[in-house]
Order: sequence, then structure tokens, then C-alpha cells
Amino acid sequence: MTVITRFAPSPTGYLHVGGARTALFSYLFARANKGDFILRIEDTDLERSTEDSVNAIFEGMKWLGMENDGEVYFQTKRFPQYKEKIQQLLDDDKAYYCTCSKQRLDEMREAQMKAGGKPRYDGKCRNLGLTNSDDAVVRFRNPQGGDVTFDDYVRGVITTSNQELDDLIIARPDGTPTYNFTVVIDDIEMNISHVIRGDDHINNTPRQINIYHALRAEIPKFAHLPMILGDDGARLSKRHGAVSVMEYAENGYLPEAVLNYLVRLGWSYEDKELFTKEEMIKLFDLKKVNKAPSAFNTSKLNWINQHYIQQADSERLVELLKSRLCVLDIVVPHTINLINVVEMFKERAVTINEMADLALFMFKDIETYDEKAVKKVFKQSAIVPFETLINKMSAVGDWASANLHDLIADTVAELEVGFGKVGQPLRVALTGQSSGPANDAIMHVLGQAESIRRTENALQFLIAKLKKQGLI
Ligand code: GLU
Repeated sequence: MTVITRFAPSPTGYLHVGGARTALFSYLFARANKGDFILRIEDTDLERSTEDSVNAIFEGMKWLGMENDGEVYFQTKRFPQYKEKIQQLLDDDKAYYCTCSKQRLDEMREAQMKAGGKPRYDGKCRNLGLTNSDDAVVRFRNPQGGDVTFDDYVRGVITTSNQELDDLIIARPDGTPTYNFTVVIDDIEMNISHVIRGDDHINNTPRQINIYHALRAEIPKFAHLPMILGDDGARLSKRHGAVSVMEYAENGYLPEAVLNYLVRLGWSYEDKELFTKEEMIKLFDLKKVNKAPSAFNTSKLNWINQHYIQQADSERLVELLKSRLCVLDIVVPHTINLINVVEMFKERAVTINEMADLALFMFKDIETYDEKAVKKVFKQSAIVPFETLINKMSAVGDWASANLHDLIADTVAELEVGFGKVGQPLRVALTGQSSGPANDAIMHVLGQAESIRRTENALQFLIAKLKKQGLI
């Protein structure tokens, strides 16, 4: 069987985590089976669909590297096909016109609910043989007896009695088709073999299967994916933080980390956590998708992201860091080589944005020193270490890390003090803070002139402070 899957988002917002996970599972299943993966934009809701959302979907899919096969389909460009099929069902008496007023339907619904039943159309127009009119909708003539059964990849066998299904509206009074109808027509005409989608559609499936039967079309296989919950167990939503895929890009996550994270939302392979895209394609199995909802776990995503940052090519990280610094309006001094910055923070930064934040002190003048650090280490005893360091820094011919390490060690030895008496004031001088990477590494990245300048500035600051306190 030729496998063809599709991702069929409605463009009414950004590409969110749940949608991206659905897309990924469809994509992997297609790739694993050497099939095709179709992207179909379900934009028939003209009021809620926007071009921005369409672009956001394209952008998200591209960022995650889920390339679709063939053209992108837009349902709004397929109205003639839907119209033809609606007519076919009307001609075959598998659909009929209905002119029940909104008021009648509302009253009926209310009464049914009051009586503790499910709201459903009572079939008033079913056998009236009405013809088209301005206020007529088209309803599908759902079979009245028997059951609909399908074997879902995730949920197993699901059986629904036709008595529970009413006659669905397939065309509105203006002739535009509705979701449950367009989705079936498209899935038939695009030869979709496996419909993989969120389980919020599971109740639509029996209705859709009846439409397949009415059109004498082959029924695809279905896989309904469980929903994604937030850290707190509630359905994942905006209040759990970023739910838009591109927000992860903006927040400094790598696409391969997000993709890797998504694949584990509801699917596992032994106890493996890290998957390249090729491994995902090789190992993904729709039958192994969990029935239970999966919970979003930001710390796990962070762990995965950190892993991929550590593995990433430094040149690539430089480009990403540059974009982030650009957003922050930071101009990188030409004396700083960003490769050195990346290498300094690659092991510890969880995201590119964090890397930028950690490195920020290197690109800007230090405006204030951390108050606690000033109190603790900017003391009279730091004057001589500063002076000695400045002299030694000025004398260095080759500004290599190893030489800078020696320079600090020599200062400590010469002054016969503990390492902290030199290292701590120097760190505050170079970073403004009492913690950060090793001094020799920072000095190497900052360059000779800037390292001397910062140490001199700190010395001046210290002298001014001591004078003010009347200590010198
Ligand atoms: N357009 C539908 C949605 O965004 C998906 C339909 C489907 O996958 O069958 O929820």
C-alpha cells in the first residue's frame, strides 16, 4: 500500500506544539514507509483564517525541517470539487435540503438537553424532498441503523451506533461546505492512506466514515493522538508559557531539540531520549503511540536543548548568537571573536538566549559592579594585585590563554597571597560580578587592551571608593 499522510491545520493562529507534534507523527510515518506527506491548509472558515497564520504554519514547518511533498493544498481553492460532490450526494439521495430555522433548532436542542439527552437533529426535513432555496442547508443522510466501527492505531477498536449520529450539515445556506465534509473529500481525492490527527477529532470519525461509504470510497486508517497537557496536568495552553513553535525559536531553542522533544510526547522507544531525525524515521512506530495524554515538561526540553547546543557546530552557534545579539541591539566589538564566546559558554548554556545573556558583559562597558562583590573584594588589599596584573598584562606579547593563566599564577606567587586575593578582584573587574568563567578565558576573549582597560577602571573605582571612605 502506498502510504500518504497529511497535516491539515486550520490557519487560525500560529503553529502550536500540539499541531507540530501531530505534523511530526504524520511526517515520520510517511517517511518511515517511503510514502508522501501532504500539507493541506484548511482555510474554509473565512472569518478566522488569516494569511499571517498560513505563513506562521509554513515558517514553523520549515524551521522544524518537516518538508511536505508536492504542492500545498488550500481548501478555499477547492470549492468546485466540494460543490460537485455535494451535488452527487443530493442526486444519489444521500443528502437533502433542510430549511429548519435557527429558532426551531435552538428550541429543539434546549428541550433535548433539558430532558437529559444529547442534542441532535430530529430529521424533520429528511423526507420532505425540499429543493434548494436561499435559507436551505444540505444535510448528509446518515444511516439510521447499525454501527460504525474502526480500528484506531492508538485507541484500538471503536464502535459507534448510528443512532447516536444525526444528519450532519455538509453545506451552509451560501453553499460553502463544512469541515466534516471537506476533510473527507480531500482525504479521498488526495489518496490519504492514514489519517493521523489529534483526538479532539475522534468523535467526527464515525460521521466521516459514513460519508466515505456514501461516496463508495475506500476508508483510510485512523490514528488519533492523545492531547498534550501542561506541567500542571491541564490541557497545554498559552498560560503554560510558549506554545507556539516559533516562540521556541525566538527563545533560543534549536529546531532539532524541539523536534526531538516533540517526538517523545506520546511516543517512546525503549528508554532512549535522544533521536536524530534519521533515527526517528527509522524507529517511529504509530502502534507504539501512547493512549494516555502526554505532559509537557520544560526541564526535559531544556536538557535536550542543552545537549544539542553542546553537540552543535560552533560556527552555526555563532550565527544564532549573532541574531540574538541583534535582537538585543548589541554591537559586538570587532576585537571579540564570537567563536571564542560560543566555545566559552557552549557547555553550560541551556538556550542561545541564555548564552547571549551570559556573554553580555563582554560586549558592553561595565556600568556597575555587583554591590556584594564590591563589599567583599574591592578592598585596600586588592590595590597591589590590580597594579601587578596591569603591569604583567601590558607586558604580554602573545595573548594566548595559557600565557594568561601563567600571568595570574605568577602574580599570586610573586605577591605571596592566596589565589582568591588576585582571582576574585580580577573577576569582578572583568565581569562586574563575582561569578563567571575562568579569568584567563575571559581575558583571552576580551583581548589585551580591553582586559587592561577593565582592570584599570576597577582600580580607579576602588581608589575612589577608599578615598571616599577616608581610608587612603
Ligand atoms: N483542520 C483540522 C484542525 O486543524 C484538522 C482536521 C483533520 O486533521 O482531520 O483541527
